[in-house]
Amino acid sequence: MGPRLRPLGQCAVCRSWDTQAVCNSCVTRFAPVLPRCRRCGLRTGTTVPLCGACLADPPPFDACSVGCGYAFPWDRLIADFKFNGRVELAAPLAQRLLEAVRRDGGPLPQWVLPVPLAPRRLAERGYNQAWKLARRVAHGLGCRADARLLDRPLAAAHQAELGLAQRLKNLRGAFVPNPPRPVSLRGLHVALVDDVMTRGATLREAAAALRRDGATRVDAWVRARTPAPAD
Ligand SMILES: [Zn+2]
Ligand SMILES: [Zn+2]
Repeated sequence: MGPRLRPLGQCAVCRSWDTQAVCNSCVTRFAPVLPRCRRCGLRTGTTVPLCGACLADPPPFDACSVGCGYAFPWDRLIADFKFNGRVELAAPLAQRLLEAVRRDGGPLPQWVLPVPLAPRRLAERGYNQAWKLARRVAHGLGCRADARLLDRPLAAAHQAELGLAQRLKNLRGAFVPNPPRPVSLRGLHVALVDDVMTRGATLREAAAALRRDGATRVDAWVRARTPAPAD
């Protein structure tokens, strides 16, 4: 799926008139392609494939594709998309992630799954923003996508001020591959999609749950990656 053409409207960033929700010149200007760790998506200063942290202690996902850094104007657009019901931003946001996955050129997964929202959060918001991205990216790649193969039955604790270790502890057991699902993920390659990756606790725990269930490879595809805390 290419960027969906719509009647002429204003670019969400520069307000120029365009058929896309974010015009091409803003996409190019605000989403430079930068060297990143292939495993966790953090910026690397040079073209080394892996960062030091991943060499020492690799995360439970095998590769990470990043749409771009979590910075202006994407931070604002993602917040509008997520919290203000601006669902029309899903298409331009997904497009950038689709391009990143294509550029990284890894093997394509059998299933693309969104990181699930806790039930209460889903009820409040009315939609899972990660699913809106996941199904578009999967469609663009010709992969299957499903929002029910991974469940998150537990309410999310407030994680914002916690360190990675505490976040991981809180998330332990939060994700369960949905038992009555029609397909098994055993032996399969799965990609997990999320809108923003900060410390990566959520994606780590979700990936670990899929691995425990027998997935042989789990990739993380994130629309926006925050810098390392020290940056
Ligand atoms: Zn623009
Ligand atoms: Zn890394």
